[in-house]
Amino acid sequence: MEKENIKQRSNAFLEEYLYVYDSGIHGKGLFTNIDIPENSEIMFIGGELISEEECIEREAEGNVYIFWNDQNYIDTIKTEKIKYINHNCDFNCDVIEADESGLILIAYRDIKSGEELTIDYGYEEIYQYCQCKNCS
Ligand SMILES: [Zn+2]
Repeated sequence: MEKENIKQRSNAFLEEYLYVYDSGIHGKGLFTNIDIPENSEIMFIGGELISEEECIEREAEGNVYIFWNDQNYIDTIKTEKIKYINHNCDFNCDVIEADESGLILIAYRDIKSGEELTIDYGYEEIYQYCQCKNCS
């Protein structure tokens, strides 16, 4: 039931307005071509659900696209968009729990058309190499 709700609601999400383009932060990034008001639900973050063991293995192999939703590890490496979201200490997006299968990306503040979407990856190592305006 819960899953169906999220699927239905995801029709109202904004994923279709997101595009992948060269990022000023790192490699490619995820951008919006519409203005997104604060607190909007932007997209469902889903992928392959894997065990902690599998997560550790894949990360050791260089997979940096694994999310955690307090219940499952979600490998987004095969997705077309969300895998490109970059870290920024001055992030404009946040993630909230959806159900056991994923997360929802929401707007942490008003985001303008053309802006890159970013989140706080929230793990120690990221701050060492961060290229955001705060850090560089
Ligand atoms: Zn930073």
